[in-house]
Amino acid sequence: KPLYEHRSAFKNYNSGGKVPLGLKRKGLRIVVTGGAGFVGSHLVDRLIERGDSVIVVDNFFTGRKENVMHHFGNPRFELIRHDVVEPLLLEVDQIYHLACPASPVHYKFNPTNVVGTLNMLGLAKRVGARFLLTSTSEVYGDPLQHPQVETYWGNVNPIGVRSCYDEGKRTAETLTMDYHRGAGVEVRIARIFNTYGPRMCIDDGRVVSNFVAQALRKEPMTVYGDGKQTRSFQYVSDLVEGLMRLMEGEHVGPFNLGNPGEFTMLQLANVVQETIDPDAKIEYRPNTEDDPHKRKPDITKAKELLGWEPKVELRKGLPLMVSDFRKRIFGDHKEEGA
Ligand code: NAD
Ligand code: UDP
Ligand code: UDP
Repeated sequence: KPLYEHRSAFKNYNSGGKVPLGLKRKGLRIVVTGGAGFVGSHLVDRLIERGDSVIVVDNFFTGRKENVMHHFGNPRFELIRHDVVEPLLLEVDQIYHLACPASPVHYKFNPTNVVGTLNMLGLAKRVGARFLLTSTSEVYGDPLQHPQVETYWGNVNPIGVRSCYDEGKRTAETLTMDYHRGAGVEVRIARIFNTYGPRMCIDDGRVVSNFVAQALRKEPMTVYGDGKQTRSFQYVSDLVEGLMRLMEGEHVGPFNLGNPGEFTMLQLANVVQETIDPDAKIEYRPNTEDDPHKRKPDITKAKELLGWEPKVELRKGLPLMVSDFRKRIFGDHKEEGA
């Protein structure tokens, strides 16, 4: 079947949910790279729920089978263990490209962002699929503009300890735009700001997962530097909604997807205390090199063109993540008394 039939059928479905009588929406064939990871698995849930067929491609570098196991046995779900640095042949309508070692602890020395993105763009070109790149607010580096607007070019150290990630994603954006302009591939670019929620990697070193795991284990929360640096924390369901709107919409982007609520690390530690344990201690550690001082998205563009804005504030979202972490750290049986 020609691809556009799937798409036009889908657009009908999407325009206010009114499918013309007698015309059933056709499911799309969608590949989600990194679909066994934190964000990817939540996206997969939504796509499956919507009626699409989903192929997850993941090498389980930081992802876990447990995140998608509830779809095993569903004929519309498929899981492939594969490293996107190697070429891959599939026939699909859409590619959500999330595969990436996403935490500072994991992303060093890994060519996924460049070679993996190139392969998935090659795939998109060959089969005429629409391609969405999950880029990052890190492309703004240690920003000299605040809040960050999509037109800002960023302030990145090309040889720093974080540069493999920052520059990797910047290159991924470049490749994406080159395939769009040069080969006519339909592309979408999301610049994701710090996101948290259930299924997040417990030990990958990011601040929200560190603080929550530490407070649950009665260990001190490790604040790096003076704790006055800021970040904006977005709940995962808001991000997934934004990614799907971006994919289905008409705009290439880039779009900032993040929650504009801005917190210092000390304020975040306070919210974790409120949520888990008022007596949780704070311990100061030296900060990492090149740590951005501030970060906060300007989401005017996504609001206007995608009709999207986050709905879940930190104090609402954090408890949902905490109950998931509690189960994973202590097991179900200790959940109540812990
Ligand atoms: P995650 O680590 O949970 O998910 C990444 C997934 O990619 C994992 O399942 C991992 O196993 C897989 N993967 C890594 N390298 C691979 C490879 N070479 N081949 C196949 N699979 C591979 O991280 P996440 O938070 O879900 O991030 C998803 C995407 O969103 C990433 O591209 C990340 O850069 C981007 N992002 C996330 C955040 C955030 O705060 N969570 C912020 C900005 C951008
Ligand atoms: N590629 C892939 N799956 C495909 C098509 C291409 O993995 O279905 C890979 C291919 O191996 C190549 C990359 O994507 O390394 C870029 O492909 P493209 O056709 O754009 O470049 P070329 O092969 O012409 O250099
Ligand atoms: N951070 C912290 N304690 C931790 C982990 C991180 O204070 O245990 C700080 C880190 O220095 C940075 C901020 O939290 O200023 C966000 O770090 P993270 O790695 O979560 O995300 P990113 O730097 O990529 O925004």
